[in-house]
Amino acid sequence: MSEKKHDVAIVIISFLVIIFVSQFALAAYEYPKLLDTPWDHFPITVFIDDVDVPLHYSPTYRVQVESALLYWEDGGNSKLDFMPNFEVVDTDDADIRIMWVENIEEVIGAQEGVAGFWSPYMINGKYLRGDIVLEVGNYQGYAWRQYGDLNMLLVTKHELGHALGLAHSSDKKDIMYPTYEERDNMNPLLLSATLPYLVVFVVGSLAVVVFLLISWRRYKLKREHLEMELFGEK
Ligand SMILES: [Zn+2]
Repeated sequence: MSEKKHDVAIVIISFLVIIFVSQFALAAYEYPKLLDTPWDHFPITVFIDDVDVPLHYSPTYRVQVESALLYWEDGGNSKLDFMPNFEVVDTDDADIRIMWVENIEEVIGAQEGVAGFWSPYMINGKYLRGDIVLEVGNYQGYAWRQYGDLNMLLVTKHELGHALGLAHSSDKKDIMYPTYEERDNMNPLLLSATLPYLVVFVVGSLAVVVFLLISWRRYKLKREHLEMELFGEK
């Protein structure tokens, strides 16, 4: 084999190794889930408790919940393997009950920064029913501030994501990133976020090694030629 053919062979083999490694890494990259099929029926009934509300409840919050329900019915963050549909009902024996409290930290003694939570009752690996508890505001320094509609919409979308079986994403742009929740509740599959970077790093390193290998071979062959020219046959 000539030296050029050798180089081509090295490049092709490296390329195949890269493809193999990438495929393996991508197979391991899966969106973190609490449950794959959280509900055994559709529609999921939802009760929005806008009657028994805390002092700083805003009547516009109910509309945010309805928007959040539509968001998931329209595909949400596209990480669900099913298309959910909801039915808003007037009775509190619904699958999901959505309610507000003045301040979650005071009510359940949760960590600071928690704006909402999903509390499910499970049976046989599926949700039988569950509560989404949302707070209407939070302390920023010493001043208490009420949540605006956009904030309420985002938190409700996030909690509904849990109710649909999704766990926390480590992608800051994803609705399931725990912006308003405790960070130590992060999914152990945090690796899923660093994995793509790891793949890029491995592939990059491999490319450098291949380049150095080829350069070294070229240099060695060149030197052998020069030695032959200068000193004749060895
Ligand atoms: Zn969460």
